[in-house]
Amino acid sequence: MVELREVTRTYPGGVTALDRVSLAVRPGELLAIVGPSGSGKSTMLHLLGTLDRPSSGTVLFEGQDVSKLSDRRLSMLRGGRIGFVFQQFHLAAGVPALDNVADGLLYAGVPLRERRRRARAALERVGLGHRLGHRPHQLSGGERQRTAIARAVVGEPSLLLADEPTGALDSVSGAGVLELLRELADAGTTVAVITHDRDIAASLPRRIELRDGRVVRDSAVEPEPAVLP
Ligand code: ADP
Repeated sequence: MVELREVTRTYPGGVTALDRVSLAVRPGELLAIVGPSGSGKSTMLHLLGTLDRPSSGTVLFEGQDVSKLSDRRLSMLRGGRIGFVFQQFHLAAGVPALDNVADGLLYAGVPLRERRRRARAALERVGLGHRLGHRPHQLSGGERQRTAIARAVVGEPSLLLADEPTGALDSVSGAGVLELLRELADAGTTVAVITHDRDIAASLPRRIELRDGRVVRDSAVEPEPAVLP
C-alpha cells in the first residue's frame, strides 16, 4: 500500500527527524505509531501521506515512487487516495457538518448536489445522520472528530492517516472514535494512527515504535515479549 525504504528526513538546522526508516504498510492494515514526543511520529505520518518528501530514501505509494510524481500529480493522488484526521479536528467554523464533509470532495470536481449526497452518506456512516445541519460549536468533541473522519473518508481514500485523533477527547468519545477507525479498517481502508494512549496502541493489530527517528520495534516483525501475570 505504502512503503518507506531507507527514508531519512532532515530539517534545516540539522535535526534528523527520521533516520533510515524502512517500513511496509499492507492494504487494510490498522497500525499504531507510538513513541515519545519528538521521536519522529508526525514526520513519518506526513511522509506516508505524501505531504512531505524525504531528504533521502524512497517513498512508494501503491508501488509508485512518489519522488517521480510532479506536485500536481502528487496533490491529485493525495486528494483522491489519502484522508487525514488531526487531533484538533480542523473543521471550518460556522459551517454545517454536511458542508464541512462535502468540502472533502472539492478537489474531485464533484457537483455540489452529489457532494452533499455523499457527505450525508458519510455522516450516516459515522453515526451522525441526525447532525447534518449542526455547526462545529454545536457538536461535542467526539461528534466533531466523527465529522472530521467523515470528511476524510467521503472520497473513499485507500489510506487514512490520523495524528492523535483521540488526544482532545474524553475516554468514552475516544473509544468511540477508535471503534470507528476499526470499522473503516475492517471495511478495507488502510489506517495508521499516531497515539500516546498505551491502551489504544495495545489494542491495535500492529504497533510501530519510534525513538530518535528510528523504528525500535515493529510488532509485525518482532512480536513483543509476553507479559507474565
Ligand atoms: P513527534 O511527532 O514524534 O513528536 P516530530 O516528527 O514532530 O515528532 O519531530 C521529530 C523531530 O523533528 C523533533 O526533534 C522536531 O523538533 C523536529 N522537527 C519537526 N518538524 C520540524 C520542522 N518543520 N523544522 C525543524 N525541525 C522540525
